[in-house]
Amino acid sequence: MSYEVPHFINGKTLISGSKKLDVYNPAQGEKIGVVGVADQAIVEQAVLAAKTAFGAWSATTAQQRAKILFRYKALLDQHLPDIAKLLTLEHGKTLTEATGSIQRGIDVLEFACGMPSHLKGEFAEEVSQGMDCYSMHQPLGVCVGITPFNFPAMIPLWMFPIAIACGNTFIIKPSEKDPSCVIKLAELAKEAGVPDGVVNVLQGDKDTVQALITHPDVNAVSFVGSSAVAKQVYQTSILHGKRAQAFGGAKNHCVVMPDADLDQAANDLVLSAYGSAGERCMAISVVVAVGDDVADALIKKMQTKIEKFNLDMSPLITAEHWQRVKSYVELGIKEGASLIMNGLETKPSAQANGFYMGCSLFDHVKPTMRVYQEEIFGPVLCIIRVPDLAAAIQCINTHSYANGTAIYTASGYHARHFAEKIQVGMVGINVSVPVPVPQHSFGGWKQSIFADIGMFGPEAIRFYTKLKTVTARWLKRTTS
Ligand code: NAD
Repeated sequence: MSYEVPHFINGKTLISGSKKLDVYNPAQGEKIGVVGVADQAIVEQAVLAAKTAFGAWSATTAQQRAKILFRYKALLDQHLPDIAKLLTLEHGKTLTEATGSIQRGIDVLEFACGMPSHLKGEFAEEVSQGMDCYSMHQPLGVCVGITPFNFPAMIPLWMFPIAIACGNTFIIKPSEKDPSCVIKLAELAKEAGVPDGVVNVLQGDKDTVQALITHPDVNAVSFVGSSAVAKQVYQTSILHGKRAQAFGGAKNHCVVMPDADLDQAANDLVLSAYGSAGERCMAISVVVAVGDDVADALIKKMQTKIEKFNLDMSPLITAEHWQRVKSYVELGIKEGASLIMNGLETKPSAQANGFYMGCSLFDHVKPTMRVYQEEIFGPVLCIIRVPDLAAAIQCINTHSYANGTAIYTASGYHARHFAEKIQVGMVGINVSVPVPVPQHSFGGWKQSIFADIGMFGPEAIRFYTKLKTVTARWLKRTTS
């Protein structure tokens, strides 16, 4: 099997671009296709299509757009199993994980279907005699979304449905590693009635991104990926006058208190740390065990669960990433952490060529170690031992990443204190993957975000619209 993944511009797929990149099936370690890199000429075509479509699309009412999005949601529900298969083929995560992630994307689309009530604006009556003041949310124009490999359907769905529901047009640049899903999303949007040019997909790499974020007709840029690239994309976009938000990497800590339900904590931690091979920006990658007894008991409970979980692991995305994660496991040993479970020794024999790696567990990790400071983005969990909650909070608050965090405890007081004092964007209390529901917004702090506005929820409506405030006076006409 071999295929070429197209672009999707102005309602049509297009095979183009002289530079091609390989697409792999990570479970088999085999090349299964190629994807073309959009050059400047193709970028121009997509931007022109989106710019041209903006006039008519932004002139439709929010209700008309919502009607189309309701049809889109029904189509996505219907095609969810096919999209999940495509996602698993190119990304490698299990079908269950793929299905769940697309569902989280559809949940945000559902939120976008309610846009007519979200776009109401605010109204202050009689601010002076005969005078009212009200706000209008108006669309920005052509918006661009640049997305990472780890959620090839969910993250695009966290961006473009809200953007187009607000009246914008959109260009998605998915990861070159698993580029097919988003083509299916765009084709179904067309089938639902989204007009040509409103949703476009450009395949490509960093050169395509550079052409998009510096293009004079692009008005806004949403980026999700690693922190170094997020920072650079954010700065370039801002310099070129775009509205921009860029979400970066993570190192998420979970505090486990002595009064926690340790069975629940052990179970949730294994799923959070090793699910999708640890390639999730909300995965827990550090356990902060409060007291040696907690650490020892957790390790004992997690070990048997990890052995079972190893049988159901997803592969890593590429051979290069496998090597990178391997080098971190070796680094942890060199830095003096205790390797309790070694994932490098575990690989399903039936999938000898796939990019599989088992779960690794380090104990006695110290804040000075690079395995603690840096994002590994693989199935590696570090345990740090601290004496009390204050030390746990200090440890988390001094880390450079601040995407998500969690605490396991039976104490409402400790949970509340933690939620209040912790300097992290998303917090779980007895929840190990605290992704907010779509009515709230998603976003970390510090090096996990470049901007001051979150993804989906109310923050996304603010991001994808310009606020206009009207002050109007209507006095009784005096006849002369
Ligand atoms: P990445 O930064 O390598 O790539 C992300 C996107 O940027 C891709 O579309 C890629 O083609 C493009 N890109 C890569 N290098 C570029 C460059 N130099 N200039 C411009 N564009 C470039 O990230 P990835 O490996 O695809 O994804 C994993 C990363 O994403 C992890 O760090 C993870 O934590 C992060 N992530 C963050 C969130 C979040 O919401 N904070 C969510 C998911 C993933």
